[in-house]
Amino acid sequence: MTRLDGKALAAKIKVRVREEAAGLPRKPGLAVVLVGNDPASRVYVTSKRRDCEECGFYSEEYALLEETTQEELLELVETLNSREDIDGILVQLPLPGHLNEEAVIEAIDPRKDVDGFHPMNAGNLLIGRPGFLSCTPAGVMDLLEEYGIDPAGKRAVVVGRSNIVGKPMALLLLRKNATVTLCHSKTPDLGEICRQADVLVAAVGRRGLITADMVKEGAVVVDVAMNRDENGKLCGDVDFQAVAEKASYLTPVPGGVGPMTRAALMENTLLAAKRRQNLA
Ligand code: NAP
Repeated sequence: MTRLDGKALAAKIKVRVREEAAGLPRKPGLAVVLVGNDPASRVYVTSKRRDCEECGFYSEEYALLEETTQEELLELVETLNSREDIDGILVQLPLPGHLNEEAVIEAIDPRKDVDGFHPMNAGNLLIGRPGFLSCTPAGVMDLLEEYGIDPAGKRAVVVGRSNIVGKPMALLLLRKNATVTLCHSKTPDLGEICRQADVLVAAVGRRGLITADMVKEGAVVVDVAMNRDENGKLCGDVDFQAVAEKASYLTPVPGGVGPMTRAALMENTLLAAKRRQNLA
């Protein structure tokens, strides 16, 4: 079994992004907005700032109070939309319950939507037009490509159908000519379907969901999930030790898809900067 080393590839991507960014007339700018005190979100925002530093980007961080109103948040998004030096706007999700996430995402200028969550970008992906791809599935595709894994003609199974991971993942695999099955919590006989997969992507958030008996010998297995075990250690949906005996390629958690998601955000921000400077 070969480990799909997302950490190593993400480092390589960031070096390339840095080089390209240095050649632009104006450096890419990313604004990250965090509302409230969710500790996990705080960690993500800090790592995004570090990634921006590594890539030579300009970055701004807005840490707003938990009680921020919808109007205040929308006003900030509008200001960022109109800023010349800001190419990417990322509002860290989830937002506190009183805020309307959909309305906030829709308020972001689609040309600055580097998370790829705006309906315009989701729609562009569906119909095969250029836009911004959701970072996690984009990172998974980069990782497959790096290891010479071509989904064309293969049977791909994606478990999980969220708008930010499962659905765009299925569409990207389809775009690369895989035959795709998308599974979810109402799918009967999940094991039976997973066993048919040449490429299996788990994006659920349930530790131990994908066991070795659900994996075909020689399959490529990608574990998107980030769960915590009883000791607080990060783990995925896949039973790593047992599945490693059957899979040909497998992502570790951590060190697989997580760093690739972050690298894809840097790639999207670079792309936004190039487009806004009429260079792409
Ligand atoms: P989500 O919105 O909670 O979606 C989970 C999906 O899993 C849903 O479609 C749900 O089905 C499905 N599901 C739940 N139980 C299932 C079961 N027993 N069998 C089959 N499908 C089942 O989660 P998400 O945002 O897509 O994230 C998924 C996981 O990826 C989480 O662990 C998250 O932390 C992780 N993640 C990682 C990264 C990264 O950078 N590595 C980025 C984003 C997310 P229904 O639609 O029927 O409810």
